[in-house]
Amino acid sequence: MPDALYYSKPHQLEFTASVTGVDGQQVALSATAFYPEGGGQNPDLGKLVWDGGEAGLVEGAVTDTQKDKASGEIWHTLSGPVPSVGDEVRGEVDAGVRWRHEQRHSGEHLLAAAFHKLNPAFAVQAVGMRGPECTLDLAGQPSESDVRAAEALLRETLGRTPLKLRTSEVSEAELDRYPLRRTTKITGTVRLVIFEEERSENVNGVPFDVSACGGLHVPWAAMASPVTVLRTERLKGDLTRVVFMAGEEAAARLAETYQASRALAATFSSGPTDLSARVEVLRRQAREAEAQLASLRTALIRREIAAAPLEHFGTASLRALRLDDIAMLPVALSAVPDGELLVVTTAARRVGLARGAGLDLHVGELLRSALSVSGGKGGGKADSAQGQTEDVTAFVGAVRTVLGNPN
Ligand SMILES: [Zn+2]
Repeated sequence: MPDALYYSKPHQLEFTASVTGVDGQQVALSATAFYPEGGGQNPDLGKLVWDGGEAGLVEGAVTDTQKDKASGEIWHTLSGPVPSVGDEVRGEVDAGVRWRHEQRHSGEHLLAAAFHKLNPAFAVQAVGMRGPECTLDLAGQPSESDVRAAEALLRETLGRTPLKLRTSEVSEAELDRYPLRRTTKITGTVRLVIFEEERSENVNGVPFDVSACGGLHVPWAAMASPVTVLRTERLKGDLTRVVFMAGEEAAARLAETYQASRALAATFSSGPTDLSARVEVLRRQAREAEAQLASLRTALIRREIAAAPLEHFGTASLRALRLDDIAMLPVALSAVPDGELLVVTTAARRVGLARGAGLDLHVGELLRSALSVSGGKGGGKADSAQGQTEDVTAFVGAVRTVLGNPN
């Protein structure tokens, strides 16, 4: 069983140890500061360095650290060369990666504690800290205002109260002396992670949070700030997923988001706080412009229809219109004068037929009859129909023929 320096000396990131086991690319050590993946916290990364004899100093990158639950052995996965059993190695944990993991993990405890203080029904059911966007799955269906209240409570606490980390190993029997936020299934010795005001003769307060946890955390709660809720999602089983970021990752995201919104606001010659109002004005203008464009298109197409010669076939009067812009086809089909029939062709061989009010004729059937002559396919209702033909001239000719020889 290796000496777990990540517990006994959590801020020591460099160490020396001897190799006690090798299995392929995996190495076991007599002692290690590399935290093995567990409790929702990612494994530590970094490197091992050793004397490779003639090869000089050899370095291997630690790409994963896992604990064998059955044996308690901790395996470091190396990329590249691997030392031999008995070699002395120097280990270096990647400080930036570790720090981000500690900030996420502490942010998770602290935000969960804030929700719990607001309402104990907001109980944590699951957590996720694999990436910069972390999650708390809560029972009790917190509302958006509950979420903002928890975030504000935590912000005020971190800004005003120096909460120090204390870890303590206690026996299962002693657990009821501690105000645990969440009951634990761990038996035997339980590791408690406590964020509390630094004890002095005058302070005998209740800790801000007490949790049973085997992970690593920042030494002062404020080092996990800011803790920012990005959004919430509804999950199955009446759970609410709170997506949050903590520490430097949160600060960087807030800064990026602010800069992006400032750049966007600058295109309106305004500031980020005016952005929603500006966008609302823009949307209204867009709706107005769209309505104006639609009415101009209708007016234009009405003129074009009126300019097309009227051909008489018994009871039906037909106008034929050719369009360059296929987008105008539906506009034309909805602007047919009363008592008239309109056949529309386009350069893309898309064709349409529509009738004005007061005409008793099924244009869907007429279109299909004409297409059976000119080739192509399409269909529609009694008053309007569209299709694709192989030969525009033949299609219009077939429409005239059908109208001239009813039945
Ligand atoms: Zn923890």
